[in-house]
Order: sequence, then structure tokens, then C-alpha cells
Amino acid sequence: MSPRQQLYIGGEWVDSTGGETIEVISPHTEQVIARVAAPTHADIDRAVADARAAFDTGPWPHTDPRERVAIMRTLADHYNAREDELAQLITAEMGAPITFARSAHAKLPGVLMRAFADTAVGFLWEQTRAGFLGGEVVVRHEPVGVVAAIVPWNMPMFLTVAKLIPALLAGCTVVLKPSPETPLDAHHMAELLDTVGVPPGVVSILPGGREVGRYLVAHPGVDKVSFTGSTAAGRQVAQVCGAALRRVSLELGGKSAALVLDDADPDAVATGMMVAGLMNGGQACVAQTRVLVPRRRRHEFADAIANAIEKLTVGDPFDPATRVGPLVSHHQQQRVREYIELGRREGARLLLGGTDLPEGVARGWYVRPTLFTDVDNTMRIAQEEIFGPVLSVIAYTDDEHAVCLANDSEYGLSGSVWSPDLERATAIARRIRTGTVGINEPYSMDPVAPFGGVKNSGIGREFGVEGLAGYLDPVSLSLRPAAGRPNEAPGT
Ligand code: NAD
Repeated sequence: MSPRQQLYIGGEWVDSTGGETIEVISPHTEQVIARVAAPTHADIDRAVADARAAFDTGPWPHTDPRERVAIMRTLADHYNAREDELAQLITAEMGAPITFARSAHAKLPGVLMRAFADTAVGFLWEQTRAGFLGGEVVVRHEPVGVVAAIVPWNMPMFLTVAKLIPALLAGCTVVLKPSPETPLDAHHMAELLDTVGVPPGVVSILPGGREVGRYLVAHPGVDKVSFTGSTAAGRQVAQVCGAALRRVSLELGGKSAALVLDDADPDAVATGMMVAGLMNGGQACVAQTRVLVPRRRRHEFADAIANAIEKLTVGDPFDPATRVGPLVSHHQQQRVREYIELGRREGARLLLGGTDLPEGVARGWYVRPTLFTDVDNTMRIAQEEIFGPVLSVIAYTDDEHAVCLANDSEYGLSGSVWSPDLERATAIARRIRTGTVGINEPYSMDPVAPFGGVKNSGIGREFGVEGLAGYLDPVSLSLRPAAGRPNEAPGT
């Protein structure tokens, strides 16, 4: 694999001023598979200056929104044509099983691009209202300016598109910072942008670690920070943006609940949990890792989930039969193993999985899919985001208790309710304090629905009209008929 050894800044590929590189390591083989250029502060300064110039004096913010929609649709066409190449890159850099990389990592961003373009077509960019105090008021939507977009490694292209496309449709310019673990897909995006005629400076892409992120967030040339990552990092970003009175949106961590009602079918729930809890090896902010089950049927549900887990093929992410690949990094593997140890110490019962490598796997950053039962919701494994393939089954006594447990979390990002009785499930779902809930549906997301968290899961929304609005400032003009000629005295 030989990606460009350069940075995409101001519409061209340039050498890093420091000459440093980032090593991309395969989570499956633990070998270096590529090296990409690492940005210095001078490179970041240049990217922000170019974005500033492209916003302040360039054509992009003033183009007709329909023109920007057309460019984004062309981008989507180019994107779709190279989807399989992208799936291969993502599997190589972060270990997602190739089947999932194709169906989710690579396909969904294309769907999201088109959904955003449709949203922009239907958006009320300008509206005239009858003024309450007389005359007319024209309400317009202006782009917020230069956006620093910071994304994690777990769904790298999906999260990039969730920020980049609405920001560009709004007329903003963007400096994107992907994670150092996943720079290859970001290079892929830079190549696509290069081909579709986005003016120079409108997008720059600087892969790098948290130091690069910190410098970018604090940069005086940035008008808005759109951040996705952990709650801990989100707090730091919010502090910097608060002090600078800079717009900020935060998509943060989660510890969501799958609430299984007492009339649910164990096999349907188990199948759903393989997606809801274990997709992407559990490295999903929306992962529903607390499975709330009725106490009297707890063994039935736990056994059904254990059976489903046992059928998952764990191993080489490039094998189309694989359902669970390695975790992204050694650090992440260690962290998840420590949580499994912690669960044992806290007194939860390990029904399946553990800290040793999966059968037949000799190396790589793998963790066996793990199922704990007899988990109390106050345990740390039930309260803290593990970000790996670890599920906790928690028993409840009645619906009231179940809702209480679902809401007993510092987070509120996603969730689900499982029951054949849709009316009952919907009534329960409405009582869960969270950003999105699925009913008999594991993803709990749709490109037209606002996505984001309550409580410590974040501030702001992505997707849908709300996602586009996050990159726009509503401003107004008040119009009154002239009272008379200038300098003419009233009544004359
Ligand atoms: P992380 O917070 O360590 O890093 C996320 C990104 O922020 C990376 O690009 C990193 O380099 C950068 N960063 C870290 N600290 C920063 C700082 N102080 N200033 C500026 N940038 C900084 O998270 P991670 O381990 O890469 O990703 C996993 C986390 O992301 C999980 O908590 C997960 O729930 C969350 N996440 C949330 C969503 C969502 O939409 N709510 C989606 C995906 C992942």
C-alpha cells in the first residue's frame, strides 16, 4: 500500500514542513502497512489560512446552494464508483470485517451524501415573514465560516461525511482532522474532492493525533469546531471553545441500553444484539451494550445471546466469513481486557469470552466477544463505555424498573426496545432519555433523523435538516417602506 506521502492543503498535495510521518499498522498482522505525512503547526496554520481566505474572499460561500448540491452529487457518484477500494482501505487500517466494511463503512457514507444533498434542496435558505411590528423580515441562512472537523477512527469515512458534506453544502470551508489510526480513507476522500472541482482552500485534510487536534481547536482562524470522540476529550474541546466563544458541536460517548420487554422473542433479540451491541467489534458510539431483560426470563435471553455469539466467526478481517475482527489498536485491546478483568472482580458472571485470544488466532489485537450476566447497573462495566465486544445482561423486575435502569447512565446516545407489542414498546421508548431509539431495530439511525446525544453524550445534532442547520447562522433583514424623501420633515 503506497498512499501519497504528502498532505492535502489548499487544494494541492504538499510536503509536510516537518518531514515526519505517521505509521499505519494493521490490527490483524501488527505490521506497518503504510506511512503518511504528519502535519506540523506551520502546516495547520497554512490550512486554516487557506480555509479562511476561501471563506472570506473566495466564491464558495456565495455560490447558489443548488450549485453546491450539484458538486456534492458529483462527489457521491465518484465516491460510489470507488466504494470497494475504500472498504479494502478501512479493513486494512482499522480491522473492520470486509463484509461490514462494504455494507456499512463504505456504503453508508454514499447514502448519507445523497440524503444531505436532498435535504439541502428542500431547505428553506431564505424566507420572507410578515413583520410582527410591521414591514417584512427576510430570514436568511449564512454559513458559519471555517469549520475544524475532528473525527475518530471507529467509523472514519461515515463520520467524516457526516461533517464534511453538510458543512460544504452550507457554504463553509473545512479543515478536517482524521485520527492517526485511519488516515488512508481520508486520503481517499482528498483524492475524490480533488476530482470534483471544489475550489482550492475549501477543504484541507490533516491526519494527526490529539496534539494536532488541540492546536486546530484553539486556532484563532476557526469559527466552528465539529467534534466526534470521547466524552473526556469533548469536555476539553468545549472548554477551549467556551473561552473563545467559538461555535461547537460535540458527538461523544455512549453506554446505551437495549430494553427487552417480557413478551419479546429471545432469538429475534439475540439476532438484533449481534448488530446493536457487537457491530464493528463493539467499537460504535451507538453500541447497546447494556441488555436489560425481565428477571424471570433472564436465563432464556442470556442463553439465546450466548448461542448467537458462539456462531460468530472471529478472525482475519479480509475473510468474507468473518463477523468480528481485531480491535483498532493494542491500546484498545488492553483497555477492553482490563474491563473484562474488572467485570470479574466486580462479581459479574462471565458466561462467554474472556481475556485470552480467540481460538485459532495467534496475533493481532483481538478480543473474544464476551458476555457477562448477573450484572448490576451500578457496576463500572455497566456505567463506563468499554468500546469493545463486551455485553452485559442486567435483570429488571417490571417495566418501571426497566425504564429506571435504562436512564440510570451519564450517557444518552442511542437505545432500543424489543417487543411484538408496538404500542407498548413505543410508550416505553418515549420514556428513555436518549438521542435516538429503535423499536425492534438495532441501528436506531436514519439519514433524515437528527442524530446526537443528551446528557454526557454530547451537544448538537448531525444528519437531516438539523445536521445542515448546525453549519448555518440564521440572520435577518428588516424591510420597511421609506417614510419619505431623506431629510424631509415629517408632515411636510
Ligand atoms: P478520542 O476522544 O480519543 O479522539 C477522537 C478524536 O479527537 C481523534 O481524532 C483525536 O485525535 C482527537 N482528540 C482527542 N483529544 C483531543 C483534544 N483535546 N482536542 C482536539 N482533538 C482531540 O476518541 P477515540 O478513542 O478516537 O474514539 C472513540 C470515542 O469516540 C468513543 O468515546 C465513542 O463513543 C466516540 N464516538 C462518538 C460518536 C458520536 O457520534 N457520538 C461517534 C463515534 C465515536
